[in-house]
Amino acid sequence: MVLDLTGTKKNFDRAILYLRELGLSVEPLSKSVTRNTDRCMHCGSCLAFCSTGALYIDNNTMEVVFDPEKCNGCELCVKGCPVRAMTINLL
Ligand code: SF4
Ligand code: SF4
Repeated sequence: MVLDLTGTKKNFDRAILYLRELGLSVEPLSKSVTRNTDRCMHCGSCLAFCSTGALYIDNNTMEVVFDPEKCNGCELCVKGCPVRAMTINLL
């Protein structure tokens, strides 16, 4: 399961502590997702998979934009991209 947590550091720490007290194992995201701009043909297929808004259409250029700051690493777009432009990088 991937959780996207935001908030103050104090509340973040409390949330992590709460999850661990429930017996859950919590690991930081140790991967990042990038887009190969040479491969991407701006077909828009990946938009259907991205729930965070990290992939969206620029209304001026009508091209698909990838904002890594909004990406939670769910990897759904990686499997959904027909030309394998989205890739996972292990850190
Ligand atoms: S599905 Fe792949 S090729 Fe299509 S817009 Fe997304 S990253 Fe680009
Ligand atoms: S990995 Fe998930 S959150 Fe990141 S761009 Fe792909 S679908 Fe969006």
